[in-house]
Amino acid sequence: MRFSRAFIPTKKESPADAEIPSHKLLIRAGFIRKVASGLYDILPLGALVIRKIERIIREEMDRAGAQEVILPIMHPAELWLESGRWDVYGKEMIKFKDRHERDYSLAPTAEEVITDLVRKEIRSYKDLPLNLYQIGRKFRDEIRPRFGLMRAREFIMKDAYSFHATDEDAEREYWNMYETYSRIFRRMGLEFKAVEADTGEIGGKFSHEFMVIADTGEGKLVYCEKCGYAASTEKAEQPKPSVPENREELFKPVEKVHTPNVKRIEEVSEFLGIPPENILKLLVYIVDGQPVAVAVRGDREVEETKLKQVFRGKEVRLATDEEIERFTGQPKGFLSPIGLKIPVYADYSVIPMVNFVAGAGEKDYHLKNVNWGRDFEVKEFIDVAEVRGGDPCPKCGAPLVEKRGIEVGHIFKLGTKYSEAMGALFVDENGQEKPMIMGCYGIGVTRVMAAAVEQNHDENGIIWPVEIAPFEVIVIPVNVKNDEIREVAEKIYEELKEAGFDVLIDDRNARPGFKFKDADLIGIPYQIIVGKGVKDGLVELKERKTGERQEIAIGRVLEVLKSLVSKN
Ligand code: ATP
Ligand code: MG
Repeated sequence: MRFSRAFIPTKKESPADAEIPSHKLLIRAGFIRKVASGLYDILPLGALVIRKIERIIREEMDRAGAQEVILPIMHPAELWLESGRWDVYGKEMIKFKDRHERDYSLAPTAEEVITDLVRKEIRSYKDLPLNLYQIGRKFRDEIRPRFGLMRAREFIMKDAYSFHATDEDAEREYWNMYETYSRIFRRMGLEFKAVEADTGEIGGKFSHEFMVIADTGEGKLVYCEKCGYAASTEKAEQPKPSVPENREELFKPVEKVHTPNVKRIEEVSEFLGIPPENILKLLVYIVDGQPVAVAVRGDREVEETKLKQVFRGKEVRLATDEEIERFTGQPKGFLSPIGLKIPVYADYSVIPMVNFVAGAGEKDYHLKNVNWGRDFEVKEFIDVAEVRGGDPCPKCGAPLVEKRGIEVGHIFKLGTKYSEAMGALFVDENGQEKPMIMGCYGIGVTRVMAAAVEQNHDENGIIWPVEIAPFEVIVIPVNVKNDEIREVAEKIYEELKEAGFDVLIDDRNARPGFKFKDADLIGIPYQIIVGKGVKDGLVELKERKTGERQEIAIGRVLEVLKSLVSKN
């Protein structure tokens, strides 16, 4: 490709709404343009990256035994009514009518359509298992589209769905996909972690998110360097502490203290000179309409996804101020577990607490030396606090490492949720009719592109991993007016192209500094700079990532690049 002919509109400035590096750089380097909120044009450079990402995904999915299909993105309402998701999916799903006044949606995901296909065609266990995938557009009317391609309204997803006769076979395929995803992201040259993830209302333990490690990631994860445990903080578990022996012997009498206007944990801590670790935080939630109190150690936060898992299948939300006062008869900010009329669930972090501070149940007062068991009843100890870096690994006890990450893929064992609701049945070996066991496996193709930039960039621009770079090499003649320089550059360009490299030549009649800036911004991994050295038979090779330059003989360019690109 010739830069002079290419549609690569680079820019000096990034748009005002771009908050994170990938969004800024993909716009500045001419990979994407915004059409409207959450809607983007993908320009030629972007399309080259997307095709490479898709190619790796296709090769690995095919290798894993999955088969590609192409499903419509316009879905009839009937299928979504059958699964029960037409109303549940909510405002994220865009809905519209056709000319006959029939309801449709634009696909946010495709469980219904694929289940409909399979239920009509598959009858026997002999035709199972089956894993079908597609790479196509998805539409989600996100409440807050942002960060460019990261959270768009229209995006490209690879979605796969598998169908099985037995649970064991569904689990075998789950791990097959786990391995496949690991290979996919490894081949893309990304630093990632597969983490245990929340399974929502379906439950069970078969859900992993693949997270690209990046400081700007919306997700948080913890992992153990010793035993390999890794989980999203929406899922990460705490080891259950044991109840301190003879704790009763330590108990002191409850003492009421005046704490005027002191409400928040930090304020109480400062006022009383007691660390947050020894103050009880008490929150009120409404679970399917019923109030419950949730206690957690003062320096900890309740992770709502974990709380929802405890009360799975029920609607869980924080109580409003009005509800708190109505259900507890106590003022917010001074809630006491003692004499509380609603059940108290306590996080594991409360188990070792002795003689702690809690609200007194009346305005401007707290209690010291409160003890669970003696002063109030804990209905159940539950694991709902958010796990953090430094906390003990639930599997081996070693301290966990905390990182931020971008969810680029998700694998999930669905079980029979859709097959039961939609009657996707098969006949087993004994002639019995049963619902198929399903799994689903997604990769955010466009999000991968953004995540790759988020992880790999510097102040000068993008640094593509070579496997998904739009071009592997850029040849930069510093002055196209100089015949010798131009001819050598053209020769190298042809030679590399001939050898199968994805190569761009910056044949524009522009200053060298201008070309170097663009090359760095676009992020092509290797730059061949053709300048004055040609007189001595030399060109310069610059590696984008390290900035390292080396002079090489013109005749060795191909050989050197072959060793570099295959090496990666
Ligand atoms: P998130 O929690 O980020 O909203 P999700 O759980 O809704 O993601 P899935 O339904 O599992 O996502 O979709 C599969 C993949 O599609 C995700 O792992 C992610 O990479 C990608 N994806 C989801 N929503 C978007 C979006 N709005 N823009 C770009 N990619 C997305
Ligand atoms: Mg989502």
